Amino acid sequence: MVKSFSLPDISARYNMYSAGLISSLHNSKRDWDLISFNIHSLNTLLTSKYTIKVSTELYEKATFIQQTRSCQFCMEKDYRTVYDDEGNATKEYFETQTKIPVNEIRIYEERFTDIEILLINFGKNQTAITSRRCWDCPKCGNKNEVAKTPKSDRQYGSNATFGVIYERPRRTMMNRSSLDRLSMKWVTDFMREVDVGLMAYQKAYFDEHGHDMSNDITPFGHDDDKI
Ligand SMILES: [Zn+2]
Repeated sequence: MVKSFSLPDISARYNMYSAGLISSLHNSKRDWDLISFNIHSLNTLLTSKYTIKVSTELYEKATFIQQTRSCQFCMEKDYRTVYDDEGNATKEYFETQTKIPVNEIRIYEERFTDIEILLINFGKNQTAITSRRCWDCPKCGNKNEVAKTPKSDRQYGSNATFGVIYERPRRTMMNRSSLDRLSMKWVTDFMREVDVGLMAYQKAYFDEHGHDMSNDITPFGHDDDKI
């Protein structure tokens, strides 16, 4: 059976579009239609398999982080994935405080008794504290104090990639003064995604052909200050 290659050598066209993109970004009066055309052209070169999807909806799904509060009274099993020397993954289980998604938590004010109000505010020269905010754990039913169970603040690193990019910011009444900055953030995020798509493409090309593409491709790099 004759082996058929599916991935074309895109290096020459990639370098050409990439140069066009960099030059349009360096132009002091940035033409966002042109910049957008250039980055989309680069993206399309990656073939349908490695092209970054452009969808605000999918991007929001991919980057959504569920915020939680941890119950101080009950535990749940969680796991982390660990890799051995040969790269085999196994799950390592551990006990941790139950994390409840914030949208499943109903916060309410609980009024202190008169004695408690006296004790809490004794000797303090401020407006008297008469209540505290609480929530009941949906799993164990115990009452948690909001003040003692802060929301999780997990965030993605600034270099995280998701294989998808949100749609280009459009001009509205509200963002006229910030459109250039928003567009710059968009193209920077898009370039980071395309870089990762390109790396995957280059690896697949090498695996298929047994050699690299004919021209070297310099990735944009993950530093924002390169553009
Ligand atoms: Zn609980």
